Amino acid sequence: MEVVKPVKRNVLLNPGPATTSDAVKYAQVVPDICPRENEFVEVMDEVRKELVNVVHADPEKYTAVLFTGSGTIIQDVLVNSLVPEGKKICVVNNGAYSSRMVEIAQYYQIPCVNLEFPTTGLPDLKVVKDALEKDKDIAVVATTHHETGTGVLNPVREIGQMAHDNGCVFVADTISTYGLLPIDIEKENIDFCMSSAQKGLCGMTGVSWTVGKIDEIVKSKDYPKRSYYCNLFMQYDFFERVGEMHFTPPVQVLYALQQAIREYKEEGEQARYERLTQCWEAIHHGLDEIGLGTVIDKDIQGHLVVTVKAPEDERFDFFKLHDYCYERGFTIYPGKMFGLETFRLCNLGLITSKDIEDFFVVAKEAFGAMGFTLPIK
Ligand SMILES: *Cc1c(COP(=O)(O)O)cnc(C)c1O
Repeated sequence: MEVVKPVKRNVLLNPGPATTSDAVKYAQVVPDICPRENEFVEVMDEVRKELVNVVHADPEKYTAVLFTGSGTIIQDVLVNSLVPEGKKICVVNNGAYSSRMVEIAQYYQIPCVNLEFPTTGLPDLKVVKDALEKDKDIAVVATTHHETGTGVLNPVREIGQMAHDNGCVFVADTISTYGLLPIDIEKENIDFCMSSAQKGLCGMTGVSWTVGKIDEIVKSKDYPKRSYYCNLFMQYDFFERVGEMHFTPPVQVLYALQQAIREYKEEGEQARYERLTQCWEAIHHGLDEIGLGTVIDKDIQGHLVVTVKAPEDERFDFFKLHDYCYERGFTIYPGKMFGLETFRLCNLGLITSKDIEDFFVVAKEAFGAMGFTLPIK
């Protein structure tokens, strides 16, 4: 597509929104259109079909249902729509995003078994197995694929298997892995995965979706209707009958997503995974050079987020580091761990290992400006 003029490029190392291409930014500049026109329904059709393809789902069994909103809206939709009357949801919880699903269940007063594990490691699968075998009222098991708060990659395949062995539906929050790590939805035992346009696909914020099992969506028609705007079956049914969202879609955001998906396909699933892994290795390399430690074992990280231990030194000031880098086009992000001073470097976007190297040149200067001699001892 034709690009009008380049926009200043920022390297976003925060956990989403991610750095996007100019073509994605400019895809939003379209003639005004009513989204009820066929021309727009075709955009919606293409996007829905491709979203199913990204996770290699069989279109006979799975479908994509989109909602207007940031990623949390689709967590909300799945938690409030998939639990039958009198049944429970069980959340395998080792981080902030699983905790959010627990909170959503609480807001809707849905009985919730909150299996909490330390945020620095993997959940204990024996505990999960026992909990599911003991409590036959659990109908839905949910967890986060990649805990964006820490960088831990969870064993969704094993958890999904346990869910299925106990007759439960398995929901995986793949918001930060979808379009970044190769995911084969059936092999991973996932009934419902989810994502949001501003994460791995590198689109614009404003639309989120699930790719989920059609027969489970149809069953949910008879479950309690706990939300009006955020009901899964209602939205699915409208898509099936009319080909679009029940209420006004974020029109321009969908044009951007259509372009972002085309770029995803052009790059290829494996090439994207390799590029982001190179970025992640470059982050570890740069941290070693500065003398900064990390919190999560490297072999349980998802190659997307590195949680960095802040130096225990009064000269260190996260905001000084942030501002110094921000002024030079690099955005870093505070940590999300209790009781430990950390910050995060994330590589979800359209960036390369060269960008990471450039970032570390700036970061080293910032440490120098704070009075450190590198490497920090
Ligand atoms: C980003 C993200 C979300 C949703 O966050 P929003 O701020 O609502 O977009 C949910 N789960 C995970 C794992 C995420 O990375």
